[in-house]
Amino acid sequence: MSSLKRSNSVSDKTIEVHNYIDGKFEKSDNYFNSYNPAVNRVNAFIPDSNERDVQRAVSAAKRAFESWSKTSVQERSQILNKVAMLIELSARELAQLESWDQGKPLWLATTLDIPRAAHNFRHFANAILYDTNISITDPDAGVINYTTHEPIGVAGIITPWNLPLYLLTFKLAPALAYGNTVVAKPSELTSVTAYKLCHLLEEAGLPPGVVNMVFGLGQKVGEPIVEHPDVPIISFTGSTATGARIAQRSAPLFKKLSLEMGGKNAAIIFDDINLDTVFPQIIRSCFLNSGEICLASSRLYVQKSIYQVFVDRFTIDVLQMKVGDPTNNDTLIGPMISSDHQKKVLKYIELARNEGATVRSLPFKLDTDHTAGYYVSPTVITDISDDSACMREEIFGPVVCVVPFDTQDEVVTRANNSPYGLSASVWSSNVDRVHTVANRLRVGTVWCNCWLVRNLNMPFGGQKQSGTGREATLDSREFYTEKKTICIKTNKK
Ligand code: NAD
Repeated sequence: MSSLKRSNSVSDKTIEVHNYIDGKFEKSDNYFNSYNPAVNRVNAFIPDSNERDVQRAVSAAKRAFESWSKTSVQERSQILNKVAMLIELSARELAQLESWDQGKPLWLATTLDIPRAAHNFRHFANAILYDTNISITDPDAGVINYTTHEPIGVAGIITPWNLPLYLLTFKLAPALAYGNTVVAKPSELTSVTAYKLCHLLEEAGLPPGVVNMVFGLGQKVGEPIVEHPDVPIISFTGSTATGARIAQRSAPLFKKLSLEMGGKNAAIIFDDINLDTVFPQIIRSCFLNSGEICLASSRLYVQKSIYQVFVDRFTIDVLQMKVGDPTNNDTLIGPMISSDHQKKVLKYIELARNEGATVRSLPFKLDTDHTAGYYVSPTVITDISDDSACMREEIFGPVVCVVPFDTQDEVVTRANNSPYGLSASVWSSNVDRVHTVANRLRVGTVWCNCWLVRNLNMPFGGQKQSGTGREATLDSREFYTEKKTICIKTNKK
């Protein structure tokens, strides 16, 4: 059953989301509301699922694993390529739904989120065709060794609200490509495109039970997935607090875990940089998706000799950013995801003011339809101490702290002095310096004179409280398969 049809426009009609279990869309007894954050109006009814739904989903996934894990690589590749194609055919509708449900500018969903979701499927559909295993002939021992990568079983996939379909598909595609079945739980705040994806998976010919999507709350759905003994792998993206809880609850079951969590990313800007060239990229790294990106730059360290020039120019640009209706092409800052999150971001701005920092932002004007949306003005904070919560904690909104530094050694120490270690960026024209600084930063990814250039072959993940494990082509294969060494006596000495 499908309550969504492929179309070129999204009406303001509320969508009733259904769980997708064992190839069937199911009505629920209980629903809760999900809101369009741009207008603060209910846009979807989400099933308030529970442990019993998770139990049925895991049983279906376990049954489906028996056959899916034995399908040929070509067969899996074909289906995943078809999913990629169907995402592209539905791209316009998916982008509209993502923007409508998450609040991100429509142009961003159209150019980033949805193309990436298709790319995730296509990439892994093709990667598995070129897989090789290592083998070592050991004449001294008279043996040949080789490795196999075997599908593990049911993968539990739990994802956040900031890049809903983008991040869900980054986990779903490799889990399926390497022969696992899945029970997934998207964020309760942004379930609509995941629901739409279930229809596309069905249309692509994915057998029943291979992907099961259980919608609902973290405690009632996420936690039973994490604690289920028949779910040996958990891939999670979300906050560090939830990641810590998942690690604790799953530890006694010795599950394989990939935890992609929060960040407080430093951008280090040296005085040899050509500001005209890099300025738009630095701004983008701070404010894309309204700052609701785990990889966003939120602490800017600027070398003293250009500090004032930088701050003046940065502030002018930031204060001119258009805040408002996500469907307008010139909107850069959409609403925060929820009223609670809006309050959290505003609390950090207030805290900076109370600490005596300089806080620059402008009031913004919204049309009457959007005045109830959860908007926050893009904000620049200066004259703030490295010890402030605004410099140490993840704000996850359009709020950036800019501070000066003197020397390379000093800035590396200050950038590393963070509980997080997800990513950083280095902006300098000096190649030696770029290499030296990048190598000394304790983070999972360092972008140098660029930002958010994500090649799926490159490992992705964080250090310290930003995460454990890496995902990408080879790393995802390591994670979603069990590696085995087979050693055979050849009698040839
Ligand atoms: P969150 O931790 O509140 O929720 C993430 C997911 O976990 C949701 O689906 C939620 O329902 C579920 N969940 C909540 N409690 C759970 C529990 N006890 N057991 C199992 N699942 C549970 O995070 P969020 O607010 O949705 O997302 C924002 C956070 O995600 C930020 O901290 C951001 O940095 C992080 N993030 C990290 C990355 C990365 O790649 N490192 C990418 C995007 C977002």
